[in-house]
Amino acid sequence: MPMCIAIDGPAGSGKSTVGERLARKLGYLYVDTGAMYRAVTWLALEDHIALDNGPALEQLARHAEIVISHPHIADGRQYTVTVHGHDVTWDIRNTSVTRAVSTVSAHPEVRSILIAQQRAMAKQGHVVMVGRDIGAVVLPDAEYKLYLTASLEERARRRYIELEERFGAQNPALPPFEEILNDIRRRDDVDRDNMQPAPDAIIVMTDHLNVEQVLDFICHQLEVLA
Ligand code: C5P
Repeated sequence: MPMCIAIDGPAGSGKSTVGERLARKLGYLYVDTGAMYRAVTWLALEDHIALDNGPALEQLARHAEIVISHPHIADGRQYTVTVHGHDVTWDIRNTSVTRAVSTVSAHPEVRSILIAQQRAMAKQGHVVMVGRDIGAVVLPDAEYKLYLTASLEERARRRYIELEERFGAQNPALPPFEEILNDIRRRDDVDRDNMQPAPDAIIVMTDHLNVEQVLDFICHQLEVLA
C-alpha cells in the first residue's frame, strides 16, 4: 500500500469527500491543504491585511498557529480547524474567505511556508493529502497520485447542493446557482498556475461518477498496486 496518496483537483471535483473517505478506510491521516490556505486568508481578513501585501501575508502565514484535528463536534465537519486556538472550521468556508483565498494563495511566499508545513505533516507517511499542487509540487514522490476533475457546471451544481443541505433551500444565506458558478470560474482562473496535474497522476473525470464509484476505482487501483 502506498505511504503517501496525493489527490488534487479544482473546487467541486469531489477531492475532499473522496480523500476523507479514503483516509478513513485506510486508517491514514487526512490533510486538506485548502483548509490551511483558507485559515491564513481568514486571519488576513480579520487583521485587515491588504491581499496584495505579500511580505505581510508571509509574516502572517509564518506565525499563524493553524491546527487541523479530528472533528470534536458532530455538525457535519470533516475536521476541526483552529487558528490561535479559535475554532474557525466554518468561518473559513464563508463567502469572503472563499472569494479572497485564491489571491492569498497566489503569493509564492505564502505557498512556500505552507508547503513546508505540508511536507512535515506527510513525513511519517500513511497520509492522504488533498489540494491543488500536492502531486506536482508538495509530494512529488507520493506513490499514488490522482487528479479528480469535472465540468464547471457539474462542480457548481455539487457546491450548490452541498450549501443547500447545510443552510436549507429557503435560507437567504444560500447563494444563487449563478453566483456559485461565477465564483468557481473566477477561482479556477486565479488558481490555474498552481493547479497542474503531476505528469504521473491518474486523471479521473467525475461528471458521471458518484463518490462510491470514484472510491471503488481508487481501491481497485490500490489493490493492483499493493
Ligand atoms: O480546496 P479548497 O477549495 O478549499 O481550496 C481553497 C483555495 O486554496 C483554492 O482555491 C486555492 O486558491 C488554494 N489552494 C492552493 N493549493 C492547495 C490547496 C488549496 O493554492 N494545495
